Amino acid sequence: MDREEYTHPRCWAGHTRECSRQISREHIVSSSAFESELLTVSGLPFLDGETKEIPTERMATKALCTAHNTALSPLDDAVGDFCNVLREVERLRQERVKIPRVRKTHRFVLDGPAVERAVLKIALNLHRVLRKDTFPEWEMPSHVADTVLGRRDLPDGAGLATLTPVGVTLQNEDAGLVGFEPCEEPRYIVFRLRGHFTFVCTWDTPVTHLEDLVFEEETLGRGTAALFHLKRINVMQGKRDLRLSLDFDWSGEWNERAHRNVTGLRGRFPTARLTARKRKR
Ligand SMILES: [Zn+2]
Repeated sequence: MDREEYTHPRCWAGHTRECSRQISREHIVSSSAFESELLTVSGLPFLDGETKEIPTERMATKALCTAHNTALSPLDDAVGDFCNVLREVERLRQERVKIPRVRKTHRFVLDGPAVERAVLKIALNLHRVLRKDTFPEWEMPSHVADTVLGRRDLPDGAGLATLTPVGVTLQNEDAGLVGFEPCEEPRYIVFRLRGHFTFVCTWDTPVTHLEDLVFEEETLGRGTAALFHLKRINVMQGKRDLRLSLDFDWSGEWNERAHRNVTGLRGRFPTARLTARKRKR
């Protein structure tokens, strides 16, 4: 069946000419990432330079047609899996520090490229919200959308890196923060989950080429301190190995059936109920 070629003027994947006629309302950060209906946010035009807790529901934009939104929904699962694994690892950590000896090793393996694409999707959504006020002269390069769509790889050394030191205690709090490098032509986006878990993601620049990494007026270190395509976070209690880890598979071969301890967490933890409430304008 031939599909009619169509570019929706508001869809950031419009250059593929595979758009539907309808635009969808898209959450800037997948709602599965958050338990509460409030999100700590800064840097958005309507916040006037303040950091505020705003309803997650308001963190939405019309930036994808319904066809592309549906096609990219597995990336929301990747973010959801990541958040669930953080919660589960923290739950097990709290259990394990109380007992002298643990028998079973738990490894929770996430789909690295999918998480990377999901963070770039957040960058594209956020750029749509900010471009008029914050980035009047700057556009995200068009190859970023192709990477999110799974059609193109990033340049060597560019992509997702973590700034969370190995062995850090994950905080059991439900805070999320997201923002671009504070300059007119940003080279990276910072995405922080659950208080402490901080990612930086570039699209052109190799992460190690970044000098000072800044976010929310906080210096996060240099690019060389970031762990590019991190493979494992081992959870420790002091020097004691709790036999608990969060892993990333970067092979592109990750599949749901091989990682039931990850997909089995879907629906286990509460998430913000975003669609249940009627929107008021
Ligand atoms: Zn589209």
